[in-house]
Order: sequence, then C-alpha cells, then structure tokens
Amino acid sequence: MTTATTRLAPSPTGALHLGNARTFLVNWALAKQRGWRVILRIEDIDHPRVKPDTIDTTRDELHWLGVHWDEEVALQSTQLKPCHDALNTLGHKGMIYPCDRTRAELAASAPNEGDQQVIARASDRPACAGDIVASPERDRTWRLCVPPGLVHVHDECTGNHHIDVAADCGDFAVWTRRNVPAYQLAVAVDDARQGVTDVVRGDDLLPSAARQQLVLECLGLPVPRWWHLPLLRGPDGRRLAKRHGDSRIARWCAGRSSERLIAFLARISGLPDAPDTMTASQFAEAFDVARLPKEDVIITEAHLAWLDEH
Ligand code: GLU
Repeated sequence: MTTATTRLAPSPTGALHLGNARTFLVNWALAKQRGWRVILRIEDIDHPRVKPDTIDTTRDELHWLGVHWDEEVALQSTQLKPCHDALNTLGHKGMIYPCDRTRAELAASAPNEGDQQVIARASDRPACAGDIVASPERDRTWRLCVPPGLVHVHDECTGNHHIDVAADCGDFAVWTRRNVPAYQLAVAVDDARQGVTDVVRGDDLLPSAARQQLVLECLGLPVPRWWHLPLLRGPDGRRLAKRHGDSRIARWCAGRSSERLIAFLARISGLPDAPDTMTASQFAEAFDVARLPKEDVIITEAHLAWLDEH
C-alpha cells in the first residue's frame, strides 16, 4: 500500500503571513496525527510575481514554526517534463485548443461584459477545438474543453459541493504563452506525480479543486482527498492582507520562539483553552479537526497586539 502523502505548497510571491501559518500548521498536525508523508513543494512557476529570495525565507519560517517535511524540497519550476507530457496527452485526446485572445477580448465577447470573472465559454471555442493536436506549441495559451455539467467535490472539512466549472470559469487555461504550465495543470500533475493523497489548503481554492479534478480525470490520474480550511480575514471581512496591519510571520520570528504564535493559532483553531505558549508538537497532539471552526476567523489589531506581548 502506498503511504498517504500531503504537501505544503507555498508560492514564493511574498512573505508568509498568519493565514499561511495557520494552514501549514493544521496541515502538518493532520499529517502527524495520521502518519502522512509531508512534501514541501515550492510553487515557483508563477513567474511575474515570484520573488526568488522568499524561497529561503519561507523555508526558514516554516522551520521556525516547527513544521517539517520528509524529503528534499521540490522546486516546481525544475520539474516541468511531466507537465509537458500531460499537455501532449491532452492534445492527443483532443481536449485542448489554442487561444490567443486576450482577457479583454474574451471579456468583450461575453454576455456578462463588465463582470470581474472572464469566462471562456464553449460557444467561444474556435473551430479547431476537439481536434487532435500531436504536439502543442509551448508558447501559446492552451485551454481545456470543459464539459458541461456539475463536478462533484467531496471535501473532508466542508462536505459535498456541486461545482459548475463551465459556468463559473469556462475553458480554463492549462498552459500559458510564457511556455509554462498554468496553475491548474501544474498542481494537478505534481500532486499525482508526487503521490499526494491529501491536499490541505485554504478554502479560497475550493473552486480550483473542481478544476484540478477535471484535469486529473482527463489525464486518468487519481483525485486526492480535499481538506479546505476556513480563512483568516481582516475586520472588514476581506482576506487578511497588508492593509489590515502587519501580520507577516517575520514580525514575530526575530529572536523569539514560535510558541506564542502557535498558542494563538491553537485558540482560533478549535482549542480556545490553549495555554499562552505551545509547541508545534503539542499543537499536533491537541488539535482536533472536528472542532476546527467552520467560519472564517476575523483577526483584529488586538490579536496582533496579544501576539506582540512576550
Ligand atoms: N501555491 C498556492 C498558494 O500559495 C497553493 C496551491 C495549492 O495548495 O494547491 O496559494
């Protein structure tokens, strides 16, 4: 039997913040409790936003938090061959088509002009969609022919979802004209290649689970178990970010232990009576996913101030 495996998959696009720390700590605790292998995969193919110097910082901050992994760190950008093969497979199956239209052009042709989300509809497909493509050129955008109908996603934290990918986002990109795989393809292929059985991440990525499931099914690859966790938000209800004050882990790292931060994360993760300090191992012993609040957590200035106290 293969070992159950999970992955920590940060994008090195900026500093780790409190929300990342909560997700990674819970992910790691679940892995410890259930005997999963842990992989650290740095998702560095989102080129324009990648800041290479944050790769080392991310690694250091995870160590500081007490979160560890079992294998050498995998840099997504150095292992693109399986993604090339996957693109070829989709081409051979007639499931992708090239699309050179810009977001603005797609938006202009859509009946929902003005909406934020740009949908590449089946009705917009070029005549060549569905043709077999022997070797897709790598410097073009390729979109997946998304079938109509609902995708059923079972999530261990949030239950069953029926997601209409065709209506929500339409034919999403699996390859970009920058000659790199798009996020949905890269994640699906890498999860399958690395034997990931359990994906734990923020629930802003739940819609992506449906898209990744479609990619995996098209490629005949296994679908992992999904665990989507509620998010941390600012007092205005928006996803926790710089505008809500400095919630970067770096604020608490320098010269301190992570025990107060972990205690704080424990208190907002179903352990309201956690002591003032806690190690990652103590968190993993006490954490109970069934008690994790289902709602997003609002982080206030008072929380940040509590964290600042020694
Ligand atoms: N790299 C993504 C991020 O940092 C997460 C991708 C995933 O968990 O599938 O937002």
